[in-house]
Amino acid sequence: MKIAIAGTGYVGLVTAACLADKGHDVTCVDVNEEKIRLLNEGVVPIYEPGLEPLIERNRSRLRFTKDDAEAYRRAEVIMVAVGTPPLPDGSVRLDDVWEVLRRIALTAERDCLVAIKSTVPVGTGDEAARFLTEHARHRVRFDVVSNPEFLSQGTAVRDTLQAPRIVLGVDSDRAERVMKELYAPFALPYVVTDRKSAEMIKYAANVFLALKISYINEIANVCELIGADIQAVAEGIGMDPRIGRRFLRAGVGYGGSCLPKDSKALYALAASYGYSLKTVWAAMDVNEKQKWKLLDKARPYTREFRNRTVAVLGVAFKPGTDDVRESPALANIERLIAEGANVRVWDPAALGHVARRFGDAVVCCQMIEEAIRNADVCLIFTEWPAVLQFDLGRYKALMNTPLVVDGRNCYDPKAAEAAGLIYESVGRPAGSGLRAEDEAADVQRQV
Ligand code: NAD
Repeated sequence: MKIAIAGTGYVGLVTAACLADKGHDVTCVDVNEEKIRLLNEGVVPIYEPGLEPLIERNRSRLRFTKDDAEAYRRAEVIMVAVGTPPLPDGSVRLDDVWEVLRRIALTAERDCLVAIKSTVPVGTGDEAARFLTEHARHRVRFDVVSNPEFLSQGTAVRDTLQAPRIVLGVDSDRAERVMKELYAPFALPYVVTDRKSAEMIKYAANVFLALKISYINEIANVCELIGADIQAVAEGIGMDPRIGRRFLRAGVGYGGSCLPKDSKALYALAASYGYSLKTVWAAMDVNEKQKWKLLDKARPYTREFRNRTVAVLGVAFKPGTDDVRESPALANIERLIAEGANVRVWDPAALGHVARRFGDAVVCCQMIEEAIRNADVCLIFTEWPAVLQFDLGRYKALMNTPLVVDGRNCYDPKAAEAAGLIYESVGRPAGSGLRAEDEAADVQRQV
């Protein structure tokens, strides 16, 4: 089929590559000329494992252009995959979605399906259908489908090729038939419903994951108070098939472009109908507090951060991506700078974002060793494989004070302490049995 995709971000580009891999002819449109230039030169502008070879293998079926009119004119299916970032009040900025719809109304010259993959408030698909019908320049029929996307950054290609389900919100048999034809080569199960329910499925799914993370983080906080081990607790509850193992890793809270934004948006949507979603509010509140956990844990040791050298390992909101949107590390780096710390940052994929955002205010390091050398404290925000595999003895050998505060529970506390580290993690008892205050007093004497 002849497909056009608006937006070559994490969703648009991955979707394009996967559809091309299944034999479709895909034209990708983006207003960001730099992205289009890079893609045409064979450079993939985002870091997503497996994406580059997939694009390379399907070059003959993929085109990249900023000429939307050319792309939309004869397309059978146009997918909207532009960003829908949050506004200050938590609602969603839909300007890019409406701009794409406006351009489609002006330029499409054949009957086509408009599939909205962007995460949009419930009701947007219905509004889009009315808008396209009212504003179509040519005599064409538009069918609007809500086709929300569930991929996770870092595993986006696999998530798309092996999605657990494809959700289709349709209001005509034709729309259902064409979308099923489009996805037929993927051989995946469908959930076919109306547009509003499809839009709601996306929010309800993402926000459920946010709830799960905030719940396990709160249980971890209680484990710290009572001396239980969150790893064992998470394993024990995760083995229950009614609960499931995933999204039960305690840490410094969720980040990224989806869970924080979608929680706020669902809360705002319900509020606009006069309903207060209390569980969602609680999840957001817990997440905000959890973000500062590492600084709170480090403070008793360092007293203050002024003139302390602080190594930050990991800035991407999770491993396998260069995305730093809503990353807890960023907020912490900002606070450390404000408090006068010398901040040294390591990340294997996201250092470019760090350099652009903080300039000379931080030192960007290509190697973990460089970041932790002579550091007074090391904060771990992302469980990159290089961090998981890092020799614990190197912290002790290289740091000024071997104080490692681990926001992702990368190491076994006993092994960390056996390696001579002062090790703090989330929701787990310390390995040595030393009382935290005794250790803190000891470290204060050293730093
Ligand atoms: P992104 O910011 O990475 O990419 C959006 C792209 O759209 C940008 O390259 C931008 O230049 C382009 N764009 C803006 N206006 C345009 C226009 N008028 N015409 C063509 N291109 C235009 O966004 P993303 O992370 O891919 O997310 C896209 C949507 O999918 C969002 O609604 C998001 O909530 C949703 N989503 C994202 C993920 C994820 O993991 N990133 C997962 C599921 C759903």
